[in-house]
Amino acid sequence: MTAGDAVRGRREGVDLSRVLEAQRSLLRAPDSELLGELAKQVMALLGADSAVVSTTHDHGFTVRAVAGQHCSGADPGDQIPWGRTLSALAVRTGEGQLSLDLGNDERVDPPTCQDHRHASSISAPLLDRGVVVGAVSVFTRRPRAFADHHLPLVSLCAEVAGTRLAMALSEAHGEQLREHLTLTEQRLALAQQVTGLAWWEYDARTDRHLWSPEVFELLGEEPGSFPPTVKDYARFINPDDRQPGILFNESGEPMWENRSGVVVRVPRRDGDVRSVQAWTDVQRNPDGTVERVFGTLLDVTDRERAAQAVAASEQRFRVAFDHAPTGMVLTSMNPATEGRVLRANAAVLGLLGVDADEVVGHDVSKWLHPHDLEASRGHRAALLQARSGARPIDIRPVERRLVLKDGSVRQVWLTSAVFEDASPESPYVLTHVLDMTESLVQQAELERLAMTDTLTGLANRSLLEREVDRAMEGLRAGRSDGGVALLLLDLDRFKLVNDTLGHGAGDSMLMEVATRLRSVIGQPATVGRLGGDEFVVLLSDVADEEAAADVARRVVDVLREPIALPSGRRLVSSCSVGVTFAATGAHTAEDLLREADLALYQAKDAGRDQLAVFDEALRARVVGRVESESRLRRALESGGLRLVLQPVVDLTAGGDGRITAHEALLRLQDPVLGVLQPQDFVEVASETGLIVDVDMWMLHEVAGLLAEDGVPPDTQVSVNISARTLELPAFAKQLEELLAKHDACPGRVALEITESVLLEAGPAVEQTVRDLRALGIHVGLDDFGTGYSALAHLQRFDLDFLKIDRSFVADLAEGSRGLAMVRAIANLAHSLGLTVVAEGVETPEQADVLRSLGCDRGQGWLFGRPKT
Ligand code: C2E
Ligand code: CA
Ligand code: CA
Repeated sequence: MTAGDAVRGRREGVDLSRVLEAQRSLLRAPDSELLGELAKQVMALLGADSAVVSTTHDHGFTVRAVAGQHCSGADPGDQIPWGRTLSALAVRTGEGQLSLDLGNDERVDPPTCQDHRHASSISAPLLDRGVVVGAVSVFTRRPRAFADHHLPLVSLCAEVAGTRLAMALSEAHGEQLREHLTLTEQRLALAQQVTGLAWWEYDARTDRHLWSPEVFELLGEEPGSFPPTVKDYARFINPDDRQPGILFNESGEPMWENRSGVVVRVPRRDGDVRSVQAWTDVQRNPDGTVERVFGTLLDVTDRERAAQAVAASEQRFRVAFDHAPTGMVLTSMNPATEGRVLRANAAVLGLLGVDADEVVGHDVSKWLHPHDLEASRGHRAALLQARSGARPIDIRPVERRLVLKDGSVRQVWLTSAVFEDASPESPYVLTHVLDMTESLVQQAELERLAMTDTLTGLANRSLLEREVDRAMEGLRAGRSDGGVALLLLDLDRFKLVNDTLGHGAGDSMLMEVATRLRSVIGQPATVGRLGGDEFVVLLSDVADEEAAADVARRVVDVLREPIALPSGRRLVSSCSVGVTFAATGAHTAEDLLREADLALYQAKDAGRDQLAVFDEALRARVVGRVESESRLRRALESGGLRLVLQPVVDLTAGGDGRITAHEALLRLQDPVLGVLQPQDFVEVASETGLIVDVDMWMLHEVAGLLAEDGVPPDTQVSVNISARTLELPAFAKQLEELLAKHDACPGRVALEITESVLLEAGPAVEQTVRDLRALGIHVGLDDFGTGYSALAHLQRFDLDFLKIDRSFVADLAEGSRGLAMVRAIANLAHSLGLTVVAEGVETPEQADVLRSLGCDRGQGWLFGRPKT
């Protein structure tokens, strides 16, 4: 700690001007009031509760003066024994004493009066020319209220008073006393010096000015550089501050009496302008003329500048706050005034539609939506906790609703920060208010658009799915008495409209359908389009299945009316509707759509232009499908598939019924149901796409069989291949690699594909067949004669054989349709160079007829059943 620090520390603890004033009062006080003044001054100086001045006699003290509320109720004139008191200690030692906790101070007896227990005290001896004549003591009820540096202040006052006391008591020693007084004044000067105060004195009798070195320092002048005359006093002061009535009178003469400490600006030679607080006091002659003037100057520039900086920053805050384009509110968080609005800017007032006086001074909750009040209180508590470090600071905005003066509600985001200062409303919360209403409306509009089918304006798939979910939730929560129904609607032959009349006509038709759907469905419903010509109607509160079917019937009816296109053309239209109804919330949205889809499929299957309601039978079929799908999956994964072989024999004259080939057929070994036939799972496999895995499994098995001589040499193996498998882009290549891997000859493999595959086949399948044939693999048509056989297709594909369907073979009586068909097919096939295979041969008679008709090969129970 440097000496400068010490001085500063002392300055902070004491009001310097008060010290000087106390000294002067004591110097000037009339003799009769001297001790009273001493008590008063030391009490005021230290902000104490009481002060007592007493003089000593042989057995103790005589109280001379009391200031403030003293606990013992001592009055002037009271006699007090010595006792173990702080004042007795001061008298005994001749030195000032300080006690910060009288109750626990071992040097003294604890104070006897409990009501106004004095905690801190200072006692200083009252000296008369070095001899202790009494004591001055100050008391306060606050412990540790005094500090070391207070001690010399009390001693100084006691010394001034003691000297004056002695003067009064003994006029005879007047001169001597005066000297002592001068000494005291010197000490005063010293005190001023220590505290950094500049002082000056003017003696009217000699017209002499006395300037302390600090004055020169303060004014930025060389020490002793200006002449000591009164006139010069004004020279240093900024002309603007030389206002009459404060420091100077009308004629520009200094007004000496200035005990309030006026602040004036002093422009220094170095250009710096210092702010100086100046006090003056006057000692007058009995005739009232000025005898001496005492002046004290204090440089308050730093203090002023600091104050200005604070003011400027406050100003900046006010401007930023008041003119911010978004709302700002300052609210008190102090328990006494919590929630009170201290300031609200124009943007907030504009938002609320009120004047400042309707907000400022009122509780902020007045403007909050009642439902947000609790959350708001919680948030405020959280802010305070965050402030105290009890929880992390969360700067995320919170969503609240404000209720405006006109009753309308705005959605706002509030971001808050807590801060504090020394004022009574502290801490505060500064809240930034962002009106989100418009953007939320926009957001809602965007969301609506994202949920809308652009062509028809109906709900799109995502919205429908969400609404179905919501309806099912409502059902689960028991929000309605009725159930939920889903109508899935498909326009009949819409593809034809698109293909023949163009997409414009198709779009017009879809829009018209949307309009009719909207108008015909009256009850709470969501109407949407899933895409293409598929529409959905969701009835979220419908009495029963029959009521749902009624709505579906109305839909079918209204779409039977021809549709007029903008071009004037009238289109005959119709639709098929699948209806499903859920009375409980056990379904998922997906279940519901699947059910409606199955019902729709049923409606179409039954000839279109009608509705079908999903019922238990359909449900059972669905469940069955699901089960068989999982069975198949399990079998695929755990090796439950089995291959069986059925022989194909040579029917030609020289063939002797020799086995030329085997057809590989599939069986499923189920752990529960035992061996399953293809009819139990192949359809499901085709629908789910699992058929591809099944076919590939089968090809692997066959390749292995050929490699391991599982079939006699020089015989072929036929494998049934589904459309999906054939559509695999690299199927031919995959098969080539597979056979190569097993070292199996491609010429021993035949693939059986159905007619429908060829009918729907695109160029890719054509190419695949060509590739397969190029590899030497045989390809033939299965179940020939059952499909829409277009002979042209036979030419398009490069095939090896035709397999005549079992149904023809079963009916070979003379003159029958089967006989005619087999004959025709055989002729056709032979003319195209294809081998003819007849399947389902069960009797020798059938075999004979087939032989006579020229069939090359035969397959059936007559020759052998499929077996492992
Ligand atoms: P498909 O290709 O027409 O197979 C011939 C079916 O006729 C076999 O039925 C066979 O057991 C049966 N059959 C053979 N001889 C006679 C007979 O004399 N009388 C009668 N009533 N039936 C006879 P299966 O094995 O039940 O196969 C049914 C269908 O499942 C097959 O018809 C084929 O379309 C399909 N399939 C079988 N295995 C596979 C496979 O690995 N992949 C594919 N994609 N489909 C397969
Ligand atoms: Ca077959
Ligand atoms: Ca067949």
